[in-house]
Amino acid sequence: MDYDVIVIGAGLTGLSAAFFMKRKGLRVLVLEKKDRTGGAIRSHRENGFVYEEGPNTGLISNAELLDLFQLSGVAPEIASGSAKKRLILKNGQWHPLPRGPAGFFKTPLFGFHDKVGMFFEPFRKRGSDPDESLLETVSRRIGKSFADYAADPFVSGIYAGDPKRLVTRHAFPKLYDLEQKYGSFVCGAIMKSLASGKERRVSRKVFSVSGGLGTLVDALAKEIGEEHLIRSAQNIEASKTGNGYAINYTHEGRTLTLRANNLVSTVGAYALPKIFPFIDKEDMDCLTEMNYAKVIQVAVGAERKAIDNAHVSFGGLVPTKENRKILGVLLPSFCFSGRAPEGYVTMAVYMGGTRHPEYMDMPDDEIKKIVGEELSALFRVPESSIAFMKLFRHPHAIPQYERSSGKRLETLWRLEKKNDGLILSGNLRDGIGMADRVKQAYETAARIRA
Ligand SMILES: Cc1cc2nc3c(=O)[nH]c(=O)nc-3n(C[C@H](O)[C@H](O)[C@H](O)COP(=O)(O)OP(=O)(O)OC[C@H]3O[C@@H](n4cnc5c(N)ncnc54)[C@H](O)[C@@H]3O)c2cc1C
Repeated sequence: MDYDVIVIGAGLTGLSAAFFMKRKGLRVLVLEKKDRTGGAIRSHRENGFVYEEGPNTGLISNAELLDLFQLSGVAPEIASGSAKKRLILKNGQWHPLPRGPAGFFKTPLFGFHDKVGMFFEPFRKRGSDPDESLLETVSRRIGKSFADYAADPFVSGIYAGDPKRLVTRHAFPKLYDLEQKYGSFVCGAIMKSLASGKERRVSRKVFSVSGGLGTLVDALAKEIGEEHLIRSAQNIEASKTGNGYAINYTHEGRTLTLRANNLVSTVGAYALPKIFPFIDKEDMDCLTEMNYAKVIQVAVGAERKAIDNAHVSFGGLVPTKENRKILGVLLPSFCFSGRAPEGYVTMAVYMGGTRHPEYMDMPDDEIKKIVGEELSALFRVPESSIAFMKLFRHPHAIPQYERSSGKRLETLWRLEKKNDGLILSGNLRDGIGMADRVKQAYETAARIRA
């Protein structure tokens, strides 16, 4: 065998998995279709600005992510106090998301009925529908105004998705577990905060990395080593051999074959049919029956003086009910150092998602016009203060864990059982955030057969 394991895809999942595998002494090779590594993560550094093409920040939500930082020698940059302030739009005005009981009772974001109802949340019955949507779960346990002005924008910020379609058990398993294990979100959250051992290290703080998240994926690629990474590997196709897998691909005009005991895929569901012709159509249909939110991120550099001090925060999210053309805005330079030159700020404006998939095909000029209008209407940023706008389109940005998820997961387990040494990782299962990706990568490395 050429390798113990071949990993397909060099995004955060593939790179982290290969990094952990290499540390375990496994002979690993990563094959990536594009001419660059990092997948959705890419940082741009230009004229004193640092801005992201994909994710801007993550949450330190598991110990595996901490291990990755420690072992790779890359230090997370923890967001400043501004990140604690999060804005939600209601009736065209930004309101801070309350952080304590007093703020909760004062905020105009939620109705009086739901505020009082929060006291009774611990006494409400557990849900019994395993495929209940997030909107249903939150409306049932807390109330409709909370669903519309907390859950809905929260879903928009994480999944760019629809809370009516995302299934709580799959899309928000920690929230689902709070209800199932402790009978209540409030009581469960209190019990969790008293957690001990490994979980204690997990601060749930917001992180990025100095110089942008690209620093992390670049460091992982460097640690894995050029000799273990093949970029621009096209037409990858796997077949089974007696005790492993043969992988054919084209590279610089040549067709090549490699063999490995184990094969790990980290690509999106949409890319699987071409790579795995040996998986029958019925099973493959269960894997590919997954919607992806299309997201356009517009990185904006603007003059600092254009931002009202009341808006200095992590950023703002726009609930569906507000009927606007953007999903939300992040303000990275208020949370992390070195993101903008003196007198300027960076903003990241998100558009599209499941609310407006049609924006993906809109010409750049029209998108920039909308961004300018929305920033003017919502933040009073005049057009004259905008230094630049850069547009990044992500046609398969975020997989949506909807009702088809149960069948998909069951199919994945069955396929892995049937095909010894095959692991179908990536964000088609186990969570969409960066911390989820690293945890899955760690677990994938642990599953590799010797
Ligand atoms: C716009 C946007 C904003 C986000 N914001 C956040 C955030 O704020 N916080 C957070 O935690 N997460 C966020 N995420 C999610 C986070 O970026 C992802 O979870 C993570 O980067 C996914 O890594 P991955 O390796 O699983 O997938 P990817 O990054 O998609 O990597 C998959 C890799 O596989 C390669 N590939 C695909 N097909 C093939 C093929 N046939 N052969 C070989 N290679 C192939 C691709 O080129 C790619 O390099 C965001 C994502 C996007 C798109």
